[in-house]
Amino acid sequence: MFGRAPRTSNNSKYYEVLGVSKSASQDELKKAYRKAAIKNHPDKGGDPEKFKELAQAYEVLSDPEKRELYDQYGEDALKEGMGGGGVHDPFDIFESFFSPLHRRDGFRGRKKQGEDVVHTLKVSLDDLYKGTSKKLSLSRNKLCPKCKGKGSKSGASGRCYGCQGSGMRVTTRQIAPGMIQQMQHMCPECKGSGEVISERDRCTQCKGNKVVQEKKVLEVHVEKGMKHGQKIVYPGEADEAPDTVTGDIVFVLQQKEHPKFKRKFDDLYVEQSLSLTEALCGFQFVLTHLDGRQLLVKSNPGEVVKPDQYKAINDEGMPQYQRPFMKGRLFIHFNVEFPESGTLPSEKCQVLKAMLPSGSLKQSSDMDLDECEETTLHDVNIEEEMRQKQHQRHQEAYDEDDDDEPTMHRMPCNQQ
Ligand SMILES: [Zn+2]
Ligand SMILES: [Zn+2]
Repeated sequence: MFGRAPRTSNNSKYYEVLGVSKSASQDELKKAYRKAAIKNHPDKGGDPEKFKELAQAYEVLSDPEKRELYDQYGEDALKEGMGGGGVHDPFDIFESFFSPLHRRDGFRGRKKQGEDVVHTLKVSLDDLYKGTSKKLSLSRNKLCPKCKGKGSKSGASGRCYGCQGSGMRVTTRQIAPGMIQQMQHMCPECKGSGEVISERDRCTQCKGNKVVQEKKVLEVHVEKGMKHGQKIVYPGEADEAPDTVTGDIVFVLQQKEHPKFKRKFDDLYVEQSLSLTEALCGFQFVLTHLDGRQLLVKSNPGEVVKPDQYKAINDEGMPQYQRPFMKGRLFIHFNVEFPESGTLPSEKCQVLKAMLPSGSLKQSSDMDLDECEETTLHDVNIEEEMRQKQHQRHQEAYDEDDDDEPTMHRMPCNQQ
């Protein structure tokens, strides 16, 4: 019987990928691949999967043997036939396609990747909360529209005679009889580009520079919930240059410090001071949010707030990026300010004692206080004390080090 059953369902994909008919000639295949591969090149923001598929399809169909195998038996047969080696790197295929042997229409090898232009964009926390758009005026190089980046009126770019188009010049000089030194340097006539445009043929708009300056206004949309350090990319908006894949303009968001709100991921934090009375007896205050809304914040009846305590309001944090209706929490960090005056009149203490729960310290009279020793409490600045202590210890350690030295020298004698 047949070695393998023809499978017609599986042998049209490569043609579809390249967008050609099954009877396409080698020339048509080349054209189709060339066009699609440039368009889908990942350097130019194309889909890498698609780029790979194109390379794979072209690699098979451009090889008459493989093409025949594919036409008859489909993709699977090829995988077996290729000894499991799979496909080549799609970039290699692309590169070899555009190698000098295949060079046509002035296309000069794989296009260079132009540099990305990176800008810092300062935004306020309000901007990130509400979202905003900023118009920025930028100037960039653009391929000259008059000569389409050729630099010449005729469109011809003559090969530089000085370097034969290589952009480099080799000079030789004899340094001794029979000894020749070769030196390579950039061709001065074409400044390394390998081509020259005659004075009369030079494009009048760009004066042969191939590019012109262009002022461009970009509207940068800062979306709700974007973060510090997040990038907003404008693909292919950087400086244009001949035979170069234009780089991107990248804006990196830099959030300015907010005087009141701090952000951690999708949550916001504010500090709020309360007097001791407010902490004990309740409070109410108005908090102006990042979008200007006035939030009334109040304690629950009878609630006591402790120093350093956090409370949170749900859904008043930052909006989530691309899901702005989902919001984080707004945390309030309470600081309780105790009365500044050092003493409290004893009659007020009596009132407070009657209202506040009694302390846990033993003050009972059943203990014989006469048997205890009297002490006195002094005020201290503990940070200052610690600092001095540390300094002292440091000094001592230093002095000890000096003493150690003779001991160190005696060490070998003690070994037995
Ligand atoms: Zn030259
Ligand atoms: Zn021009």
